[in-house]
Amino acid sequence: MRKITLINVDDSIGNFGIRKIASFIRQNGYRVDQIFLVSNDTTTFKYRFQATFGAEIDEGVKNQILEMVKGSVCVGMSCMTNHHRRAGLLSRAIKEKYPEKKVVLGGAHATIVQEDAIEDFDAVCVGEGEKAFLEYLQRLEMNQNVSTVKNFIVKVGDKIIKNSNRPLLSNKELEEMPFMDYGLKDNYIQEGSKIIKFSEEHQYKYSGPHYRVMYSLGCPFRCTYCSNNIMFKIDKNYSKLRRPSVDYFIQGLLNIKKTYPDITTFFLTDDAFFSLSTKEIQYFAEQFRNKIGLNLKITGAIPTSITEEKIHVLIGAGLKHVRMGIQSGNPRTLDLYGRKISPPRMIKAMDTLSKFKKYLIPTECDIILDNPFETSDDLKETILFLDKLPRPYFLNTFSLEYLPKTSLTKKAIDEKYVESDSRNDLLCKFPKGTFPNLLISLYGVFKMPSFVIKYLVNSKIMNSDMQFTALIKMLKFFNFSKRAFYFSLHGDFYFLTPKYCKMLNRLHYLGRKAIKKL
Ligand code: SF4
Repeated sequence: MRKITLINVDDSIGNFGIRKIASFIRQNGYRVDQIFLVSNDTTTFKYRFQATFGAEIDEGVKNQILEMVKGSVCVGMSCMTNHHRRAGLLSRAIKEKYPEKKVVLGGAHATIVQEDAIEDFDAVCVGEGEKAFLEYLQRLEMNQNVSTVKNFIVKVGDKIIKNSNRPLLSNKELEEMPFMDYGLKDNYIQEGSKIIKFSEEHQYKYSGPHYRVMYSLGCPFRCTYCSNNIMFKIDKNYSKLRRPSVDYFIQGLLNIKKTYPDITTFFLTDDAFFSLSTKEIQYFAEQFRNKIGLNLKITGAIPTSITEEKIHVLIGAGLKHVRMGIQSGNPRTLDLYGRKISPPRMIKAMDTLSKFKKYLIPTECDIILDNPFETSDDLKETILFLDKLPRPYFLNTFSLEYLPKTSLTKKAIDEKYVESDSRNDLLCKFPKGTFPNLLISLYGVFKMPSFVIKYLVNSKIMNSDMQFTALIKMLKFFNFSKRAFYFSLHGDFYFLTPKYCKMLNRLHYLGRKAIKKL
């Protein structure tokens, strides 16, 4: 059987794009070996506090990959921007050993920077790759011209040929696709200096009892710092929500549940799940409750899409946790980010969620720090906004990164706040140790009396150069501990090692069953 190798270079087992391509290519008669490179132990405290994304690749792993790709017609890699240097390094090693073998880069980074990514590869696949990659492989096999495949940017001698893109998959086409690959067969993973068979234990080790899935594709927003800002320029239809039917999706979840019987939670990572209509969410909730019966965690909640009705039906289906983008509490910065959401609307969304606090783990709110465009008055407004934001919540604080080619990055370069984008040092940087960052981080742990906050934001220390890095780190640790505490109250022990996590999850399940019987 014709063989290809797909390598996920991100430190993750949850890359949906490459898993979808693996399924589709297998369905079309190829043997696909899929390798997940996980060089950091993503479960450690250290990783949670300061992830590093270098350009290194373990020698043992590299040599083993070189052996594994020997019989492959083509090698495909996928990565986000923070791992592109590692993908380039691996591609160079493969090309050095097998100059005739074609190596293709796809995924988020390739789509964002396009021809800029081609240096180390024979071709770059832009956007949705299922059909494009299959056509590329078929042409390769038949010795046909691969330089005209749509969605592909191809190196031909000294020239780089860029083709137009095919339309995005319609809802009907998404439904005709095989389910994303979630299985164990022909899948491999890095463990230290070796590549070994992917097992159920790896799923648990890197994702705990949560299984990450995505139902809808696309986002109606195009925030100026986000990759969707670029996607929209590639194809306006990225702003539309596309998805297969709920029934199709639920069948996929049933298969996953059968393969990984110890998972307790499906983690919906859609960009904008709550933007689906109430009717569709109701039907989804009904099917999920009746056929799946596990917990639900939903990320990507856009405040304007949160309604009481949607939360109510989802709680009935097992919703336990929501993650929402706040990003800032002042209108000027929200405008800079292209987020058409007013602070009062965000307060309303949190007010809705807090009405269900008896059933939900506190909402996780994302907030962006270290934005050089913000003045101390802007930060003061954000701090006073957090003071009014209905609790309970956790705060995920991020230092602003300059993703290549976004409008915000261009503006920051033009106005000389940064020299270049962060493609070579995207590090999930720890927030700076400034006093406003300290006050914001405090809200992730507890609420100080409002009169104290009002006094502090008007004091001189707001503009001082004093650094509070150690305190901010400590608060991040408390924020994490508080989060772990609330999750464990809901019987979710994701933060423990797989062995204890499984044990306690089972005990919690049996305890609940016994209580129900009484
Ligand atoms: S709402 Fe979220 S996913 Fe959508 S564009 Fe903004 S940051 Fe990106």
